[in-house]
Amino acid sequence: MSSTDKIRGKVVVITGGARGIGLATAVALQALGAKIAIGDIDETTVKESGSARDFEVYGKLDVTDGASFESFLDEVERTIGPIDVVINNAGIMPTGRVVDEPDALTRRILEINVYGVILGSKSALRRMLPRRSGHIINIASLAGESHIPGLATYNASKHAVLGFSDTLREEYRGSGVHISSVLPTLTNTELGSGVTAPKAMRAAEPEEIAAAIVGLIVSPKSKVRVTRTAGIISQVVNFLPTPLGDAIGRSLGSGHAFLDDVDAERRKAYEERARGV
Ligand code: NAD
Repeated sequence: MSSTDKIRGKVVVITGGARGIGLATAVALQALGAKIAIGDIDETTVKESGSARDFEVYGKLDVTDGASFESFLDEVERTIGPIDVVINNAGIMPTGRVVDEPDALTRRILEINVYGVILGSKSALRRMLPRRSGHIINIASLAGESHIPGLATYNASKHAVLGFSDTLREEYRGSGVHISSVLPTLTNTELGSGVTAPKAMRAAEPEEIAAAIVGLIVSPKSKVRVTRTAGIISQVVNFLPTPLGDAIGRSLGSGHAFLDDVDAERRKAYEERARGV
């Protein structure tokens, strides 16, 4: 069976789909014949993106609100049918030293990046388990298996997404529902604006992450790291004794990439959006 055959007609929900990785994934899946629903907290942009591309469903979704999630998924099932794939993609990445991070922002990062993924996964499982079929894909990050100064709470949130997704995979083993995680490197979206990738790790394009997600749906597996090179570096560094791994991370520039090296002017608009200013 070709990739197109495996994707054609599938009902796919993507959170945070108004732009960036979520939108690139929606476009790639639509091209292969999937029926697409994108939800996003940014109602204006999600409506512009959805109507411009003629997706089946597009509208406001706040992943931190269980009622909003349920009603969005209900609407998708009413309009296009039982959901085959839920991609929990919505996320934010404010940068800076944790000591300067307002408590409300700490809570916001955890609510969107972790609580939102848990709510979305539960809601998807309740719909998929009785049918013994479905696929939940949680967008983590290579930050979920590394530690990067300037991203402490974000790192914590992505470690949590990986731990949660790995646990679900075992908890629902044999149920017919697949659980996968995606670990992108720094990717050229608004979220990464003003940040330069550490040495030896070029930034990815959102279309590369989308292609990896398409690959997961065609052939489900537990996780995929993108780019391949960044994934290998991350795994090797984790395998080494901590002082050596940390020293390699520093030599690649990860110690200041998300602090002093950030181009604050280029990043300003994103930081304001992410912080809800
Ligand atoms: P992006 O900022 O371009 O898009 C994220 C979208 O999520 C935005 O449209 C935003 O409005 C939406 N969103 C935020 N809060 C929401 C909420 N409460 N409910 C619904 N939608 C909400 O970012 P992106 O780069 O496309 O990131 C997508 C995912 O990929 C995130 O989980 C991010 O952590 C992850 N990721 C990104 C990178 C990167 O460098 N861009 C790297 C690794 C992982």
